[in-house]
Amino acid sequence: NKENVKGFLRHNLFVLLTIAAVALGVLLGFALRPHNLTIREIRYFAFPGELLMRMLQMLVLPLIVSSLVTGISSLDNKASGKMGMRAVVYYMVTTLIAVFIGIVIVMVLKPGKGHRDSPVASSGTIEPVQAADAFLDLIRNMFPPNLVEACFKQYKTVYKKTIHTKNVTFALNLTDSFNASEVALTVVELIPVSGSSNGVNALGLVVFSMCFGLVIGSMKQQGQALRDFFDCLNEAIMRLVAIIIWYAPVGILFLIAGKIVEMKNLAEVGGQLGMYTVSVIVGLLIHGLFVLPLLYFLVTRKNPYTFIAGLLQALITALGTSSSSATLPITFRCLEENNRVDKRVTRFVLPVGATINMDGTALYEAVAAIFIAQVNDMELNFGQILTISITATAASIGAAGIPQAGLVTMVIVLTSVGLPTEDITLIIAVDWFLDRLRTTTNVLGDSVGAGIVEHLSRQELQSQDVEVGNSVIEE
Ligand code: ASP
Repeated sequence: NKENVKGFLRHNLFVLLTIAAVALGVLLGFALRPHNLTIREIRYFAFPGELLMRMLQMLVLPLIVSSLVTGISSLDNKASGKMGMRAVVYYMVTTLIAVFIGIVIVMVLKPGKGHRDSPVASSGTIEPVQAADAFLDLIRNMFPPNLVEACFKQYKTVYKKTIHTKNVTFALNLTDSFNASEVALTVVELIPVSGSSNGVNALGLVVFSMCFGLVIGSMKQQGQALRDFFDCLNEAIMRLVAIIIWYAPVGILFLIAGKIVEMKNLAEVGGQLGMYTVSVIVGLLIHGLFVLPLLYFLVTRKNPYTFIAGLLQALITALGTSSSSATLPITFRCLEENNRVDKRVTRFVLPVGATINMDGTALYEAVAAIFIAQVNDMELNFGQILTISITATAASIGAAGIPQAGLVTMVIVLTSVGLPTEDITLIIAVDWFLDRLRTTTNVLGDSVGAGIVEHLSRQELQSQDVEVGNSVIEE
C-alpha cells in the first residue's frame, strides 16, 4: 500500500544518502590532505560533524531513561525477567565468542613477534589502577549515590602519591615529578582518593531505570501516570530523532572527511602495528559478518543479511561517530522502522546493550593484550589467557559507549596478567581507526541481540498483547 511504498522509498533514500555521504567524505578528506591544514582549520572544517555528535549525544540521556522505564513497566515482571535473562545470556555468549575469535587470530597471526618496532614512550602518566580497582568501580557505577551527578559523571578510582616529610604531608598527582633525593628522605605512599571522570554514568542510569520500571510496572493502576509520562517522553524524543536524522548524512560526511584530513600518514603504519591492525580487523569481520549472522539465522530462521541491511544507517553512524551511545537514537529508529522489531523489546534491550554489550571492544582488548605480550616476548600460559578472556569481557562491559573508551579500560586487562600498561602507547596510533570498526561491531551486536530476544520472547509478547488488548504500546 501507499504508506509502505513511501516508507520503503524514504528508508532507501536515507541509506543511499548516507552511503553517498561516506564516499564523499572520504573523497573530500583525501582531496584536502595535501593542503596540510592546521589543527584549527581542521576543527572549523569538521564543525558540521561535531554538531551531529552533539545533537545525538543530547538525546541519549532522556532516551535511555525513558525507553527503559517504559519498556520494562509495560511488561509484567515475569515477562521482563525472562527477556532480561535472554538478553544477558546473549550478551555473555556473543562477547565470549568475540574474545575467543580475537585470541585465536592473534595467536595464529602473531603480529607482535620479532623485534620491537618502536621505543616505548616514558611511563608515569598512566595511573597504576589495578584490575581489582576497575572491577569495584564497575560495581560502584551501578549504584550512583546521586542521580543528577550520574548524568554527567562516572566514578573512577585514582591513586595519589602522598609524601610524608618530617613536618608535612602532601599529596602529589601521579604525573607530578619530584626530586629523587627529596623522596629518599621521605615515605611515599599511594592513597586512593575518590575520583570521577567526565561522561554520563550510563550503567548507573540503566540500573536505576530498570529498577524504577519494574516498580512502576508492579504498581498497576497507581503507576499509570508515570507510565504515561515516560511513554510520552520517549515518543517525543523519537520524534526529535526523526528530525535529526535528516541532518545525519551531512554530519557523517564531515566527521569522516575531518578525520581523514587529520590522520597521520597511514603508510607509515607497517610492521608489527600493521599486522596488529589487520588482526583486529579480521577478527571483527569474522564476528560481524559470519558469527552474528549465523547466530541470528539459527535462532530466527530469517535472512540475517536483510536484517543487517535495515541497520545500515546505524552502522554507518557508528563508523562516523565512534560511539555506540551517540548512535543509539539511530539504532532505535533502524530497528523499529526498518526491521519492525517490537518496541517493547528495543526499549528494553537496546539501552542495556549499548551500555554493556560490546563484542567489538572485547575482541579488540583481547587482541591488544596478547599483542603487547608478544611484543614483550612474554609467553602466556593457559591461566593467563583465561584471565585475559575474563578481564577483556569485564573491560568491555565497563567501557562507556564513547570514542576510545576501550583504550582506557585496556589497563584492566594488562594489569591482570602483569603486562606493562605504558605499552598502550604502542597501539595508540591506530586506535582511532580500530575504534570506529569495533564500535560498528558493537552496534551490530546490540541490534542482532534485539532481533534474537524478540524472536525468543514472542510467546510472552503475544500473551501480553492479549492481556492489554494490544493497545498500550502499539500506539
Ligand atoms: N567507542 C566504543 C563504543 O562506543 C567503545 C570503545 O572504545 O571500544 O562502542
